[in-house]
Amino acid sequence: MARDARYDILFEPVRIGPVTAKNRFYQVPHCSGMGRAWPRALAAMRGVKAEGGWAVVNTEYCSIHPSSDDTPYPVATLWDEADIKANALMAEAVHAHGALAGVELWHGGAYIGNLASREPLLDVLSRPSRIEPVQSRAMDRADIATLRRWHRDAARRARAAGFDIVYVYAAHNYLLHNFLSRATNERGDEYGGSLENRTRILRELIAETREAAGDRCAVALRITGGCVGGGALEAAEVRDTLELLGPLPDLWDVVVDDYTFEMGSARFVPEAAQESAIAQVRQLVGGTPVVSVGRFTSPDTMARLVRQGVLDFIGAARPSIADPFLPKKIEEGRLDEIRECIGCNICYATNSRGAPIRCTQNPTMGEEWRRGWHPERIPAKESDTAVLIVGGGPAGLEAARALGQRGYRVTLAEARAELGGRVALESRLPGLAAWARVRDYRLQRIRDMANVSTYLDSRLGAAEVLEFGFAAVALATGAHWRRDGVGRYHRTPVRGFAGAGVYTPDDLMAPVLPEMPPGPVAVFDDDHYYMAAVLAEKLAAAGRAVTLVTTAGRAGAWGVYTEEDWRTNRRLIELGVSLRTNAAVTGYGNGQVTAACIFTGRETALEAAALVTVTARSPNDALYQSLRADPVALERAGIRTIACIGDALAPALIAHAVHAGHRFARAFDAEVPDIPSKREMAPV
Ligand code: ADP
Ligand code: SF4
Repeated sequence: MARDARYDILFEPVRIGPVTAKNRFYQVPHCSGMGRAWPRALAAMRGVKAEGGWAVVNTEYCSIHPSSDDTPYPVATLWDEADIKANALMAEAVHAHGALAGVELWHGGAYIGNLASREPLLDVLSRPSRIEPVQSRAMDRADIATLRRWHRDAARRARAAGFDIVYVYAAHNYLLHNFLSRATNERGDEYGGSLENRTRILRELIAETREAAGDRCAVALRITGGCVGGGALEAAEVRDTLELLGPLPDLWDVVVDDYTFEMGSARFVPEAAQESAIAQVRQLVGGTPVVSVGRFTSPDTMARLVRQGVLDFIGAARPSIADPFLPKKIEEGRLDEIRECIGCNICYATNSRGAPIRCTQNPTMGEEWRRGWHPERIPAKESDTAVLIVGGGPAGLEAARALGQRGYRVTLAEARAELGGRVALESRLPGLAAWARVRDYRLQRIRDMANVSTYLDSRLGAAEVLEFGFAAVALATGAHWRRDGVGRYHRTPVRGFAGAGVYTPDDLMAPVLPEMPPGPVAVFDDDHYYMAAVLAEKLAAAGRAVTLVTTAGRAGAWGVYTEEDWRTNRRLIELGVSLRTNAAVTGYGNGQVTAACIFTGRETALEAAALVTVTARSPNDALYQSLRADPVALERAGIRTIACIGDALAPALIAHAVHAGHRFARAFDAEVPDIPSKREMAPV
């Protein structure tokens, strides 16, 4: 297919100092939870993006010295010559597909903890670490000179590793940001005070990076280029900084002053939300190329931003994770094949705990080297076995799609009148509309496959499964929320939860809402992710007085990993939801819940006409268990393979269900090794 001429502008080459990007698709530096710990996995992951058409592919933050050690997060490192090889793996993988490789040199300042290196933190002044109960020491002039040497040496190593773009990274509250910001730089020497002084270190580092690598590498500056949260003073400061530094770097990579906005989940921040905040940057920096992000998945938005002169490069982290082949698909006019990011931030959540990246939409993300999975290619079928999949949620849909792509004949039976399972239901909750993309992408792909048939309104029992006579059956029948309060806090059913007035998320997500008695509602959250918070939001929006009782210290506490907890709490408070934290609901009856402090056990009563309990889920595995219990019947029916996948096996996130469906399809007709994925082993 030919590409639409409207998008030609996205495929123009753009010069960045001494190098040229072949198009405008730019994977900005983003964490992967791999870094120095998983160099081969990392190289394969970044290489796949280059293969998918990204003209520039960057590393994650790359530490220049052990005094910038973000353990337990596996950052990239260029500490010494021994680090060059691992980084070269990535640069080579990116070059193999004609893309430019960039490296984001980084010093964390006081933000981090130096847990492994045990070096004292370094910063502009003595400041508390953002994470650990320690403070930095203030850098003196000699320290600043040493920092410049480390940065210069790292830039030289970056060049030796084969990178084409070397960053000076002055954003996100790390060391150089703290030099720059009036709020954090109270130094009285030539590196503090006036704007001229506060930008001194950047001017020096840009010049020295150019000196060390600039004959062959472009120098990029990553900096706050727009304000969404700050006041007029900050906005003026940002403007003056851009004007002052304007022509110095070869590329401006601009972020905004609120990470929860820049990295905002789709619940809180729409696509291209930074546009107005960064619209002036290009003019201010005198026409040097500018890249910025916006969770862009719409080629029309991308082309408009370039046409209007807002951006030169379409920056992406998440859209390139959800679909490494996004540029190729636009280039080849295959727009309906784009796997759009849903803005759930699960990719970020794994890095936030030091684990290799994954993605809800793209089950192959992070598995390119470990399992040899490619986002677009999959081995052809090994047999003519026909497969029955029961349940059309994310696990069943992905299994059907991937088996269909392999060429197997697949029948997908779904009990309800629509496909999508939990994704269809949850995407109707406040802020979760984009989650429907998990279903829509797969439906779109399946629609083009003559070998995949779907049947709605088809609740199957054991008799039907046996009667149909498929040689392989996968049960992807999902899970349901428990009503009895059992979860993390309660090991046994809670008093009064079996009576009237108690609801589960399934009740509130059903197409026909239950009649709830009028009056205040208590939501009991022992799950700690999004569900209790979005239900509280839904009830509050419907005019209910809501109290959210959570066993965690704040609402949606797990959202600390997805950069959502702060906005979740703010939204609930603004909606008038009362928060009762560190408390468990211990009983319900007579229009009251009892809530106990989790530390003292002291109970108080709350008026509640209804209680919504969000604690744990039970797998819907009865069908699987009953089939498995009768091997003779299975044999008679000719069923050779029977599997249970997704939430029906182990209730988890949507990302797990999609991964499970994909894994089932890949493993079908194949040997499954005991150790399912490769490990990176340091040479001993
Ligand atoms: P997962 O996240 O594992 O994909 P979901 O709960 O999203 O699980 O989806 C499970 C799907 O299975 C639901 O759409 C449900 O209606 C369907 N389902 C459950 N039991 C049966 C059954 N016996 N026959 C057909 N479909 C079923
Ligand atoms: Fe997008 Fe979610 Fe995938 Fe991250 S995990 S890239 S937010 S779909």
